[in-house]
Amino acid sequence: MTTLRIEGLSKLFGTFKALDDVSLEIPDGKFVCLLGPSGCGKTTLLRVIAGLETPSAGRVFVGGADQTLVPTHKRGMGMVFQSLALFPHLDVADNITYPLAIRGVDKATRRARAEELLDLVRLPGLGARRVHQLSGGQRQRVAIARGLSINPQVFLLDEPLSALDASLREHMQIELRQIQQSLGVTTVVVTHDQKEALTMADLVIVMKDGVIQQAGAPMEIYHNPANAFVAGFIGTTNLLPCEINAGAISVLGHSLAAADGDRIAVSRGPASLSVRPEHVLLGAPEEGLRAEVTFVRDLGESRHVLMRAGDQDITAHLPPGGALRVAPGDTVGVSFRPGERVVVQ
Ligand code: ATP
Repeated sequence: MTTLRIEGLSKLFGTFKALDDVSLEIPDGKFVCLLGPSGCGKTTLLRVIAGLETPSAGRVFVGGADQTLVPTHKRGMGMVFQSLALFPHLDVADNITYPLAIRGVDKATRRARAEELLDLVRLPGLGARRVHQLSGGQRQRVAIARGLSINPQVFLLDEPLSALDASLREHMQIELRQIQQSLGVTTVVVTHDQKEALTMADLVIVMKDGVIQQAGAPMEIYHNPANAFVAGFIGTTNLLPCEINAGAISVLGHSLAAADGDRIAVSRGPASLSVRPEHVLLGAPEEGLRAEVTFVRDLGESRHVLMRAGDQDITAHLPPGGALRVAPGDTVGVSFRPGERVVVQ
């Protein structure tokens, strides 16, 4: 039972509040992504969990035990830093088992553990190499193996894949997830990449300005964003100012009747309408909001149509091979698929 619980955590740097009353509970064995733009407090939260920063207020519990004042090396947490922080003067095996060496574990046990971990991260036989003899992806695996060497109760990673190129990164996201699942270790990863979070996480925690905006399963956050910030941050969406009145959505001078499945979290007044590009429908000009096509991008698997309606940009992603042919300069009628409209504050 290693549930990680955070209660009312705040962190001040001088007068600047990097974390503001953060509370959350992470069930045992879950893979959690802390997601948000640069400076939102993700790394600070991870460092407080690890014991590398002392909170200004609040507590950190693991399995019900208060860890807030427990020093880092006694928290049973494995860490992978963005910089990896591997030692050039040690071979791969000694890098991996360094956390065991500083805890006084004997050499034979360390060697055996290094072999096990090298197998786990799919680098069998590379224990004697030096770090500079490894590729970027291999170094990443060594850092992951080192973070796991102490058999941590909680595994913490700060932007672990950010230095990798896009294709290797996608591959490592899946591998990291598979390693985590095979061990069942409670894992918290910091990332600013929403696709990475959606790929790996059981639970995504979206942060902004030191405050949790929403915590939930990836698809819950994607389909039911708590506010306009979350809607805009997760996936691609069209965010349009609207007005809610008597259950109708008024947008760009048009009134749309709410339909079954629409998620309208605002009862009245100004709000934001979020519609994913795949739910934007195009027809003849009289069939919806009048918009002018500004750009068409054919990507093979879909066609992206960029439009301007009033002072708003709208993007539609259309399936390939659709009958409707549009070109820049055309006037079209835009509508939003009923049941796929989300209204948030
Ligand atoms: P990034 O994705 O850029 O790493 P982040 O979300 O991880 O961002 P943090 O590193 O947690 O953000 O920083 C949150 C805020 O706290 C930032 O405004 C940062 O400048 C500030 N901050 C972090 N550490 C310190 C420090 N030691 N002293 C002063 N301010 C700090």
